[in-house]
Amino acid sequence: LARDQFEVYYQAQVSLETGRIIGAESLIRWIHPELGVVSPAKFIPLAEETGLIIPIGEWVLRQSAMQVKEWHDQGFDIDWVSVNVSGVQIQRSNFADTVYGILVETDCESHLLELEITESTVMHNTEYVIDVFDRIKHLGVRLAIDDFGTGYSSLSHLKRLPLDKIKIDQSFVRDLPNNSDDAAIATAINAMAQSLGFTVIAEGVETRQQASFLKKIGCQQGQGYLYSRPVTASEFTALLRAEQLNNKK
Ligand code: C2E
Ligand code: MG
Ligand code: MG
Repeated sequence: LARDQFEVYYQAQVSLETGRIIGAESLIRWIHPELGVVSPAKFIPLAEETGLIIPIGEWVLRQSAMQVKEWHDQGFDIDWVSVNVSGVQIQRSNFADTVYGILVETDCESHLLELEITESTVMHNTEYVIDVFDRIKHLGVRLAIDDFGTGYSSLSHLKRLPLDKIKIDQSFVRDLPNNSDDAAIATAINAMAQSLGFTVIAEGVETRQQASFLKKIGCQQGQGYLYSRPVTASEFTALLRAEQLNNKK
């Protein structure tokens, strides 16, 4: 962080109905001088152990808020940037205050920011998480559950959370549409989440067949290599610009 070696990449989130980019997920990368690009799967668990996830997470949030405000101010049609939040940030910092402070500091409208927390984090320490989520929701920030289907959700907890969105974990998307178990699970998660009033996005969409199956079951949004890999902010700006031109045609 001190050497400025982190960078935030952005991955498109699209409407399955129209195929258009409607949002983006922020994904941190460590650009190491010798090791090259280090995956967050490698260093986030360490940062969580050492507590460094708190300043790192705050940095990602600030970058993402500044970036989405910039895209919005430039007139690009992007509805939100979604930022991953670790359970450690929620449990060991005044997280709702941090979010509020960053919104004020960056002058970012709260509805442009979405936060994603993994299902396993939410189902740990639920009472505390519900309290923090309620405070964040009051700010007007959107909330999503990441990796849904992998974390033993209690449905009685789920209905008490002020959620906007559920992300179907990519492990259920990978073998669609042929694996009948995954097809049944994706269909059931989508139906349950939508009847609770949540938007549903599928992660890890790589093929047209997966996308058309998801669209057929009524899933609203998708994210994955089929649309775009995570790219730098300037590459993402180019994607938004290309879309803007396409829509004018
Ligand atoms: P995640 O939040 O579930 O992010 C989705 C991961 O799937 C990302 O990996 C993304 O690059 C990858 N992905 C996207 N589309 C596809 C696809 O079509 N196929 C496949 N096979 N993979 C796809 P990434 O960027 O390596 O991030 C891994 C995890 O690290 C994230 O999982 C998230 O839990 C964590 N992470 C990333 N950035 C941050 C951050 O800023 N803060 C925190 N706390 N965690 C982060
Ligand atoms: Mg995520
Ligand atoms: Mg995920």
